[in-house]
This record gives sequence, structure tokens and C-alpha cells, in this order.
Amino acid sequence: MLDRLRALEVLTRPEHPDLTAALARRWEELPAHVRTRNQMLGKRTAGCEGTHGVFPRCNLACTPCYHAKEAQRVRTDGQHTLREVDAQMAFLRQARGPGQNAQLIGGEVSLLEPDDLAAALLAMQAHGRKPMSLSHGDFTYEYLERVALDPRTGRPRFEHLSFAGHFDSTMLGRTGIRKVEREAQLNPFRKAFCDMFRRLEEEHGVTSYLAHNMTITPRNIDQIPEVLQEIRDYGFRMFSHQPAAFVGNQARWKERYRSFSTDAVWARIQEGAGGRLHDDALHIGDKRCNRTAYGFYVGDRYVPLLDEDSEADRRWLDSFVAAFGGMDFAAPPAVTAARTVRALAREPRALPRLAGYAARLLARAGGPVALVRTPPRAITYVMHAFMDAKAVRPAWAAMDRGETTHADPDVRATMERLQACSYAMAHPEDGRTVPACAQHSVLDPLENLELMALLPA
Ligand code: SF4
Repeated sequence: MLDRLRALEVLTRPEHPDLTAALARRWEELPAHVRTRNQMLGKRTAGCEGTHGVFPRCNLACTPCYHAKEAQRVRTDGQHTLREVDAQMAFLRQARGPGQNAQLIGGEVSLLEPDDLAAALLAMQAHGRKPMSLSHGDFTYEYLERVALDPRTGRPRFEHLSFAGHFDSTMLGRTGIRKVEREAQLNPFRKAFCDMFRRLEEEHGVTSYLAHNMTITPRNIDQIPEVLQEIRDYGFRMFSHQPAAFVGNQARWKERYRSFSTDAVWARIQEGAGGRLHDDALHIGDKRCNRTAYGFYVGDRYVPLLDEDSEADRRWLDSFVAAFGGMDFAAPPAVTAARTVRALAREPRALPRLAGYAARLLARAGGPVALVRTPPRAITYVMHAFMDAKAVRPAWAAMDRGETTHADPDVRATMERLQACSYAMAHPEDGRTVPACAQHSVLDPLENLELMALLPA
């Protein structure tokens, strides 16, 4: 009886105690420059996670490709994938607590047999992760259906699936299109990807969250607005942009990737969004790495979830974080209700601030009539700027030696970003997580050589 009461007490806490401890550790580790009022790392999230070395091969060719050239010579092997995913996710659960977003990534996920992909996603869920599969999207509805449905019963084995589809003109080899001259040529493929998930929901009730990933190079930067305007209503909920970096397979470095700034990319994203993006309302790690803008459309108007210029919105964010911390809202309604009551009880200013915030948000959205007339569609805009391998190598070497700063300002800046990293990969064999930049720039080549010997293509 006492055990059940204790379990209930933990279940209805806003945060699982393991997450509370993990967030506190992450906050302590963060460098001073990102410990700001609007910083969500270490307060709301421990950061994003990704797998590595689980299925390195891909059957499309990207320029650039962040994976080492050896990755193409590693066989995709379901048993290896499951073993590695299980070990990496178990480590992340122990190090970072439950409820964190984790990407099943590291090659092309749809080269896995459908049952192996489903098993990997279930293993991630079992370790308290919220998995998202990263794919070029060049697979069929039949494949997706076989992932989603249990072959023994024909019934869904998932209520919900998250996929990120990578679509851009830097990719070669997509079925049905030999050469992509302009981004617009890919729009039918982007739409077909969303339509597959819409059909999955209609036929089997499996809901989805879809992100659109796009690598940005000098060739396609000016096409961002056109792409975003055209595909806004296809069904993607997040538009994520990665300015190309000199990392991974050198044979695939084709352009002068540093000929534009990340500000220039963000300006094009904002133009495509059709409204101001409030990326300073909250930060996730270092702004040189990440920019995120949350909001929703009412008709064609983009409404920010938080106004970065509003002190009242900032106070609401303070109270939201103080009350809810890393609370997972995707829980059964009764659990969420109990957690919410406890969250509000620990921050009494949250309720009045929530009321004020709701009134401001409603006014920004155009009032209740506008919302009834055009139901809001939530869309998040993201930019994630990976670093060049030649910048990461010396910084990671210094950090490996236990150094926390550096005399060279460029190396120091890179170290600061790595220390504030919001995208980690697990190394259970070393008992640590590493930033994805360090994984791709430093660790991938050796790891793929080992995998080539273990799983020759
Ligand atoms: S250090 Fe690299 S992987 Fe980490 S958040 Fe910055 S760009 Fe992303």
C-alpha cells in the first residue's frame, strides 16, 4: 500500500525526480553566457537526443552529407540497430531522465525492415524517449503501414508517429526525380510525404507529427521563402533549416557554405513565415547553434506564442518554468490534471499570470471571433547551425583534456557552443554524452571503420 502511494506521489509530480535531477545537472554544466532568464536547457528540457552508428547507410546522396564516407559501406542490420538503440536509450534514460525528444537518426531509417524500425521506436519509448524518425521520405505508404501496424493483429502498434522528412535540392537519387534544379520541383514529393501520414490516420487512426528538414546552401538560400509559403499547409508542424557545414564526407562538399551568415538564413525563414519570428522569446542552448520560434497561424497571419518584447510575457514564462519545469503534458488526462494542480500550487503567481497571458495571446490572435472563423494551426520555425569539423576538432580535443576555456577566441567560441549543446548522442561505453557536432566531426570516422568490419556491406 505504501509503495502504491509513493508511486502515485511520483506519478503526479510535475516532473519525474530523475528529470529534476538531470535538469539541475544540465543547468550546472551550462556556461555562464547561456544561463539566461529565457534559457530552456536545464529548466524545461535536458536537450534533444540522437542515435549514432545504428544504421549508417543511406540510399540517397546529399551534398553535403554529414556522415563519414565509410558509412556507405556498412550494412543496415536490424539486430545491430536494436542492440545499439537499446543501449544508447537506456543510458540516456539514466543520465537525462524520462520524457525527452530523441531522434532515430544516423543514416536512412527506412532502409530498416518495417518490423525492425517499429521495434527500435518501441525500445525508445520503453526507455522514456519520444522518438522521431529522420528520413529522406522516399518510401511507400505500404512501408509506413507495415511500420505502424502489428503484423500479427493488423492493428496499430503506435497511437502516434513522429517523422522528420528531409527534402531539398542538395539530395540526389530520389525516386521519380533525377535531378533537382529548383526546390519547387520537390513540392509534389513533400506533399506526397504528408499525404501518406494523413492516409495512415484516416485508415488506421494513427496520428502524426511531421517536421520538414532542409539543408541550406548558397544555391537554395534564396528559395527558402518560396518553399515555406508553398508548403505551409501541407501538414508539416515544424520547418527546420540547417545551414550547410563542412563536416562529414569531404567528397560531398560542393559549395562555399560559409558565403552567407546564419542571420541571412533566418531572414529568409522569416520572409517565408510571413510574420515576425520571436526567436529571442526563449533559447534552447546557444543562439549561434539554435533559433526556435513557436507560434500559430490564424489565416495567413503568424502569431507568436510569446512576444519577446513583452515583459509581461517574460514574467509568464518565468512562472511557467517555475511551476511546470520539465513537465510532460502528453500524459493521460487525469495524470496531467493532477500534475497541473501540483505545478500551480508550487508557483502561486502562475495562475494570474496565465490569465493575463491568455488575454494577450487572444488579442494577438485577433480575438475569439477570428479563432472560431479560422482555427489556429501551430507551426514552429527552427534553424540549427552545425559547426565545421575543422573548428570542432581542436575545441573537442581541449574539452577532452578537461579544459574549460582557450586562449584562441575561435576555439573558445566553439567550446562555448559545445558546452551549451542542445543535441546530444549517447556513448554508454564511455559513460558520457557528446554533442552531435563532436560525433560527426571527430568520432564518426573511427566508429564507421569499426562498423565496416562488424557489418560489411
Ligand atoms: S554544438 Fe553542434 S550539435 Fe550541439 S547544439 Fe551546437 S551546432 Fe548543434
